[in-house]
Amino acid sequence: MKWKGRRSSENVQDRRGQSLRAGGGAGILGLLLNVSSRFGIKGILAAIVVVGVLWKLGVVDPAQLLGGAPQSTNVPVQASAEEQERLGFVTVVLADTEDVWHAEFSRLGAQYREPQLAVFRSGVQTGCGAASAAVGPFYCPADGTIYIDLGFYDQLARALGAPGDFAQAYVLAHEVGHHVQTLLGTSQKVQAMRGRPDYNEYSVRLELQADYYAGVWAHHSRRYLEPGDIEEAVRAANAIGDDAIQGKTRGEALPHTFTHGTSEQRMRWFQRGLQSGLLDGGDTFSLPYQQL
Ligand SMILES: [Zn+2]
Repeated sequence: MKWKGRRSSENVQDRRGQSLRAGGGAGILGLLLNVSSRFGIKGILAAIVVVGVLWKLGVVDPAQLLGGAPQSTNVPVQASAEEQERLGFVTVVLADTEDVWHAEFSRLGAQYREPQLAVFRSGVQTGCGAASAAVGPFYCPADGTIYIDLGFYDQLARALGAPGDFAQAYVLAHEVGHHVQTLLGTSQKVQAMRGRPDYNEYSVRLELQADYYAGVWAHHSRRYLEPGDIEEAVRAANAIGDDAIQGKTRGEALPHTFTHGTSEQRMRWFQRGLQSGLLDGGDTFSLPYQQL
């Protein structure tokens, strides 16, 4: 995919240096408040002197004292040139999805709200709770943010046999698809069915629609594609189908536990979106389940 020199999204948060423990500014502000209630103004002055000394010594970061109260610390990270390149790539792909979905929403008289993308490493604090990289890329509706551990792309390339930058773009576009479903209220309707015996079927329908939306994005980005890109995405859709993943982890696939759809279904819905390019053409909910 041609991406160098193209617009970068402003909605990417680099949280690779974030650790999950609370503290930072909240801790120091909390300490000052605590001192004031116990020792009054003299105590505060003494505490400020102490903090000032720590600051001079480099123990306390002044940014922690000033800018609000972060939930967790985020320190600069060492990243390989390859990882920085990957970050640049997802930043451009996200910008591309913004352009496509703004246009598709306004075509239907609606307004698109852009999601955030947080890149992290081992673990991250999200509006949906703490998450480890083991869960793979995901979208949290509560904070409208997509979470991606850039290391997942190594896994996609090596363990799942789906290398290539367009495979990575497809994974991101699928998560943006979940954001679109949240804006349209589709995700909430499916969430409300949790607990029903046929809930898994609705979950599969939702996932296949996100694949369709990834295809819609690819349709509008065709001018940036290079030979082999679509095959890369299709291979990724194929590699991360429930039957393929379960086949690798359990030795056999169990259809009633599917929540994402089979590899064949995922490839097919991605390609439908790719052909139509229309937001309103991906109804995965009206068809009988067996015909999906
Ligand atoms: Zn999904």
